[in-house]
Amino acid sequence: MSLPDPALVVLVGASGSGKSTWAASRYRADEVVSSDALRGVVGSGEHDLDASADAFSLLEQVVAARLGRRLTTVVDTLGTDPARRRGWRDAARAVGLPAVAVFLDTPAGVCRSRNAARDRPVPSRVLTSQLASVAATVDLLEAEGWQVVRVATDERAATGDAAESARASTSPAQHEDLRGVVLQLSRFPAEGDLLAWLRDMAGAAEEAGLAGLALMDHLIQIPQVGRAWDPIPEPWVTLGALAASTSRLQLGTLVTPVTFRAPGITAKAVATLSALTGGRAFVGVGAGWWEREHTAYGLGFPSARARLDALEQGIETMKALWAPGTKPYAGRRVSLPETTSYPRPVGDIPVIVGGGGDRTLRIAARLGDGCNVPSDEAGLAKVARYLALVAETGRDRSTVHATVLDLPLVGRDRDDVWSRVERHRGPTAAAAFAARHHAGTSTEHAARLAGLADLGVTTAFVAPVGLDGPDDVLALAPLATAFG
Ligand code: GDP
Ligand code: MG
Repeated sequence: MSLPDPALVVLVGASGSGKSTWAASRYRADEVVSSDALRGVVGSGEHDLDASADAFSLLEQVVAARLGRRLTTVVDTLGTDPARRRGWRDAARAVGLPAVAVFLDTPAGVCRSRNAARDRPVPSRVLTSQLASVAATVDLLEAEGWQVVRVATDERAATGDAAESARASTSPAQHEDLRGVVLQLSRFPAEGDLLAWLRDMAGAAEEAGLAGLALMDHLIQIPQVGRAWDPIPEPWVTLGALAASTSRLQLGTLVTPVTFRAPGITAKAVATLSALTGGRAFVGVGAGWWEREHTAYGLGFPSARARLDALEQGIETMKALWAPGTKPYAGRRVSLPETTSYPRPVGDIPVIVGGGGDRTLRIAARLGDGCNVPSDEAGLAKVARYLALVAETGRDRSTVHATVLDLPLVGRDRDDVWSRVERHRGPTAAAAFAARHHAGTSTEHAARLAGLADLGVTTAFVAPVGLDGPDDVLALAPLATAFG
């Protein structure tokens, strides 16, 4: 069962129906606001009915504060008070959060026997009246505008298996190309053995069944990722080192700016990597965007238009040099007196064109073998545009790579997810940060990526938030099979 998140979740059920147990199995303790627990806070214990008014005034305050921050809020009360329900629903609506009513549909007899087994059972006639008001409430929920979710007793027994079946589906997938999840490494340790760290990360990526490993191509660490003095190794040298320690991963850059090197030199590096790895090389290319690194390294940084011209010429040059033989090349933008480049690449080298401008997408569709755009809504619209452009050029969609760059926050469980949100969000509001990075468990990310596959995405370049060591890479295993 998948519920919207973040959301307001209001539980509806009699004592002993299993509300608190259900909430605890799915949500963090801080996300659940329970009238019983608050009676314990302001009164002598969970069943101190004299403390009800104080407990509910606290409850309303907590619900309002959390919803105001767009944080998931699970209200654990009987759920039968229509005025309170209306207030919570309106508060959720005011911030655009879905309002979900979860009805614990547990047989009356089961509630009664669980209630009787408690240290302080509610009196039998009170339980009877609770069961009646719950039954009456359930009929009202849809009309009140709630998204109603019914939880049956037998279904709950089965939910314990979800984690297990997720684990069972994590056996390494076999990859022959870029289709799948490619680990994007963008942060590197400043101290210690860099090569050993890289090998451990790549080894974990292979073990997790990922399709490949990609490196950014920047001369200075970019501000989106870290500080200018954080290390960022030259990618083709680094990929050469990884060629020696990997046997399955596709290796390449995301993306190499055409402004850094003459395209023939990039073609030579990629062809060599392909030869060294038995055909596991790919290359991302882009127009370049960060003026500072160009200036610092003595490189020219021409106009956007000139850089896009260079992108077209660069792709054409690389493909010409990778083609069989040594014959002269006379193309639309590039002419070469000979195309002598050995060692030959093994098989075709995919050229992934990064960037979402319309001219860039057209270049990707016409000259490249794939596009790369962000995995957000705007990016997904560009995937659709790219695939339409591919079809327009008469190319077969199944031969191209529609790729996205995804920056997920992945946690072991809900508690771990939210402690990571707190650790990494900086000054950003928690709910906004969580939404931007789709904060969730690997199982949740796998389901999300499978949804992207349905939209035509073939590859997710995944750069997890707070990726420190091999364990964080192994945690991506459930994502590996998201693209089939
Ligand atoms: P609440 O009063 O609605 O919050 O109910 P609780 O969540 O406190 O559950 C009441 C009792 O039923 C507790 O002893 C739980 O351990 C037990 N219980 C709750 N859900 C389940 C369930 O799905 N299966 C079983 N076997 N027991 C449950
Ligand atoms: Mg309870």
